[in-house]
Amino acid sequence: SQEGQQAGKRVLLAKPRGYCAGVDRAVVTVEKVLEKYGPPVYVRKEIVHNRHVVENLRERGVIFVEDVSEVPEGARVVFSAHGVSPAVHQEAADRDLRTIDATCPLVTKVHKEVNRFDREDYDILLIGHEGHEEVEGTAGEAPDNVQLVDTAEDVDKVEVRDPSKVVWLSQTTLSVDETMERVDQLRGRFPHLADPPSDDICYATSNRQVAVKAMAAECDLVLVVGSTNSSNSKRLVEVALQAGASAAHLIDYPNEVDEAWLDGVRTVGVTSGASVPDVLVMELLDWLAERGWSDVDEVTTANEKISFALPRELRDSSPVR
Ligand code: SF4
Repeated sequence: SQEGQQAGKRVLLAKPRGYCAGVDRAVVTVEKVLEKYGPPVYVRKEIVHNRHVVENLRERGVIFVEDVSEVPEGARVVFSAHGVSPAVHQEAADRDLRTIDATCPLVTKVHKEVNRFDREDYDILLIGHEGHEEVEGTAGEAPDNVQLVDTAEDVDKVEVRDPSKVVWLSQTTLSVDETMERVDQLRGRFPHLADPPSDDICYATSNRQVAVKAMAAECDLVLVVGSTNSSNSKRLVEVALQAGASAAHLIDYPNEVDEAWLDGVRTVGVTSGASVPDVLVMELLDWLAERGWSDVDEVTTANEKISFALPRELRDSSPVR
């Protein structure tokens, strides 16, 4: 708008942002199960870490549970994008549940790495956040052989059987820079530390971090749309600050923006975590436009084309029993 231009107000909109292929697949999975069988549909844990998505599905008849023990025997349950440990699969089988696994294939890849290194009798150092569902599922593949490394202090606490047989793996949604820092610290203790065959931090996490980095230094304020339990969204706030944004905040909805954050601000950067539908970003852009930030420039650092096939049970050729 004229007013916005005069004041030099502008928005830089990061691309890529928002939904990754794993989240898209998980949400579509639950929608298809709802369509095919009708409510109620049980989902273990939040299907993806986004309030809007979860509330919307809840309204449509999804029952989110923390534990498979809460699902009635014989009922159908969807496992969330973050993955589950073999113990959870076993418990579901014991209760005769019909499971549909929406674990992101990139999380499954890390599970397979744990299995492989466990078979080869490595001590596995899993870099990730204590208490995060993904880490619980991944570590559960080999509970006796995986040690979680979250903070720098954790590096000192690690104890291994044979320092020449140690490998690091990671959660998919970490800060790329911080993870490499942790790897260097670990290598300081274990010079023979083996690297995973390929980075575990997923393409979507690293692409979103690259995009926010590219614009952060120009921003007086960066707004990251995402929920507080979303690891990759929280990392975007940290990366924006490290890359030179004067301020950065995580919000689920525009009404959570404190108008005081906008004082003296010209350039607002906007991005969103991998679990965030773009409609929420559009609502934020509308909200900003009403306050004079109507010039929006998209800052593109990558074009993502990746998509994943639905879980086997939902592909048309193989009906769910
Ligand atoms: Fe998969 Fe990465 Fe998306 Fe997680 S953030 S669901 S690992 S693509």
